[in-house]
Amino acid sequence: MGIQLFKASFDVEACLAQVRECLEKGWTGMGFKTVEFEEAWKKYTGHKCVYYINSNTAGLYMAVDTMKELYGWKDGDEVISTPLTFITTNHAIAKSNLKAVFADIDDTLCLDPKSVEEHITEKTKAVIFVGFGGNTGRFKEIVKICKERGLKLILDAAHMSGTRYKDGSIPGTNGDADITVYSFQAVKNLPTGDSGVICTDSEELDEIFRKKAWLGINKDTYARTINKEGTYKWKYDVEYVGDKYNGNAIMAGIALAQLPHLDRDNAYRRALAQWYTEVFSQYPNQIGLVNVPNDCVTSQHLYQILVKDRDGLMMYLNSNGVYPGVHYVANTDYRMYEYGKGTCPNADFVSEHVVSLPMHMGVTFEDVKYITGLIVKYVMEIRKGEYLK
Ligand SMILES: *Cc1c(COP(=O)(O)O)cnc(C)c1O
Repeated sequence: MGIQLFKASFDVEACLAQVRECLEKGWTGMGFKTVEFEEAWKKYTGHKCVYYINSNTAGLYMAVDTMKELYGWKDGDEVISTPLTFITTNHAIAKSNLKAVFADIDDTLCLDPKSVEEHITEKTKAVIFVGFGGNTGRFKEIVKICKERGLKLILDAAHMSGTRYKDGSIPGTNGDADITVYSFQAVKNLPTGDSGVICTDSEELDEIFRKKAWLGINKDTYARTINKEGTYKWKYDVEYVGDKYNGNAIMAGIALAQLPHLDRDNAYRRALAQWYTEVFSQYPNQIGLVNVPNDCVTSQHLYQILVKDRDGLMMYLNSNGVYPGVHYVANTDYRMYEYGKGTCPNADFVSEHVVSLPMHMGVTFEDVKYITGLIVKYVMEIRKGEYLK
């Protein structure tokens, strides 16, 4: 079967016990386990408000849309974002009739604060920062810029489950981001099937998310006004056309079963990264590495290198039973976002030269030896040691 880029590992017995509990109780929808997971995630991260939803995509869509409405942003207003991400990040901006303005990345593959500053205009309302591969990059500098310039900040933490700073704090907490959105999609660090959470310190935002994610239904207004005696439980108000973005108890049960393993899994991911790096750092001219700042304890969702002939290396690895991936093709290469083409040279360079190597609990030290051996052979012998730059 070869060595795949990703393979989720589940605590099968614990997952089944959670699912069994849902089935026996006859409760597989919203509530029950979803509430239990929200509490667990609050405790794990320190985010004040946590709402369990069906994906990170749903969360980012709601994050941008809600802020646009609440703060009176106009169609065509700008949100600064990165070209190097899964398209969800930028679709969230376009979906709300706002314009994604692309700033460039730095050697952490995250947004470069200097480039962000250069792209701020009178129309700029917010920045979306992607913690690429679990890396915090120079997020704290972006936080500072946003606070100084009065911009909202959304953290796309799809790769960041379990990422911390060295002092133990979680990126996006303590008012650093206005909204933080995680993904628990099938191959992310805390895998379920599909789900995620949207987190904020603002109870006002949290309340809107809960309505918006459930068709715009508001049970609370009736509960507060008419429903004093606990009667009319079937009555609710509908404030606007919402979506159906809520999570369910089956997925939340799996998330609860997996959460106790997240830190241990991430520690193993970092060990894999170190084994890869020990070999690759011997070839600094041929193999480019990603900079993880000293204060970042990364979730190591991805391990990436840069090589001159990326496509050739991919084919060579495939023919030897190793199946790496590419994260990502610059979004400015896609028709939707081609207006930004050529404006982010660093992102374009990475887009053409980056490879994501196998990174999951099933990869062994022997596998890393095999994979690094193939890569060194390809780069140093087959491609005769040609330089990356
Ligand atoms: C996976 C991913 C998403 C989308 O997450 P879903 O839960 O699948 O919607 C968004 N942004 C990034 C950077 C991702 O990797």
